Order: sequence, then C-alpha cells, then structure tokens
Amino acid sequence: MHMPKKEKHLCKYEKKEITNNLDYLLSIIRSPLYMCEKCIRTANTDLVLCKPCLIGSK
Ligand SMILES: [Zn+2]
Repeated sequence: MHMPKKEKHLCKYEKKEITNNLDYLLSIIRSPLYMCEKCIRTANTDLVLCKPCLIGSK
C-alpha cells in the first residue's frame, strides 16, 4: 500500500490521489476527533486539516 511521505492536508487531495491513498484516508477519517472549520472535513488527527478544531469542544 502506498503511504504519503508526510501528512498532507485532506483539502489538497485530488481525485486521483484519493483513489491511490484510499486505505490510508479511510483509516484517518474512520473515528474522527477533529474537524476543519474551513471545509468541514473530519479526521482523527489534526495534522491533515487546514483549520482543525476538536469536535468534542464544540
Ligand atoms: Zn480544511
């Protein structure tokens, strides 16, 4: 399985990259702890979001 070298913001993924990294992407969105306040993407790490905030804090 292809893994990205360093954490990349989810907003920056293009359709082809999403397909190529599907297993990785599914693993970071499966139990989300953070959401991006700009584009409402969610993830279990804040490293991949452009404006992360803890879901539980809202
Ligand atoms: Zn974002």
